[in-house]
Amino acid sequence: MPQRLSPIFVSHGAPTLVLEDHPARHFLATLGKEIGRPEAILCISAHWETAEPTVSTAERPETIHDFYGFPEQLYRLRYPAPGAPDLARRTAGLLRGAGFTCNEDPTRGLDHGAWSPLILIYPEADIPVTQLSIQPGQGPEHHLAVGRAIGRLADEGVLILASGGAVHNLGQFRVDRRTPADWATAFETWLTERLAAGDTAAIAGYAEHSEGMKAHPTDDHFLPLFVALGAAGEGAHGRVLHRSFAHGSLAMSAYAMDKAA
Ligand code: ZN
Repeated sequence: MPQRLSPIFVSHGAPTLVLEDHPARHFLATLGKEIGRPEAILCISAHWETAEPTVSTAERPETIHDFYGFPEQLYRLRYPAPGAPDLARRTAGLLRGAGFTCNEDPTRGLDHGAWSPLILIYPEADIPVTQLSIQPGQGPEHHLAVGRAIGRLADEGVLILASGGAVHNLGQFRVDRRTPADWATAFETWLTERLAAGDTAAIAGYAEHSEGMKAHPTDDHFLPLFVALGAAGEGAHGRVLHRSFAHGSLAMSAYAMDKAA
């Protein structure tokens, strides 16, 4: 039997993370060693938004450079990992079994929410990887339920890797800002404490937090966290793997979602 792998949430920051000398980049570069080698990776990225859950059944997913106006060398990066069509179909089957509609996309590649952390975590690009989309506007409860439906994959040697941002406000983004804004640290501290306490209900109600809408003016970068949390089951706790900030308004925090003891 493969060892259970706690679902993980990472913050991917700006597309330039892979080029930056930043603590989050150094953390991601050591994470693969800490996790070990999964059988396959199911990535839930903030950058694949669809009306209904969709998985990629691509055999050789292409690297998608879904950003504009960045340094040329970023566009030359490739993450040539094999696809994971069997895992994608297994994921779709679990979701359908739980009452969801789930579509299969045979051509979808890897967006930068997936490949920019993966190129640091598993630079050899030899572990099969697929993506599952998010549904902005359908809220935390929907994404927790999606996570619960696929949680057993974590017992089958699959790394459930959610990629978004613990705090993500591009309107407040300042390229040269090295210290985080007070509202950003307040929200990140609250999130870290609620995850440690296993207080999923409070986190799902983050919009009511005084800084909730400033931390996430849109929900796309927060929704992957709920899939990872849901996948760890009822009573799961979020364990800190890394905490830092970038550009004043992005929290780069990462958490492992541990199953209730
Ligand atoms: Zn992003």
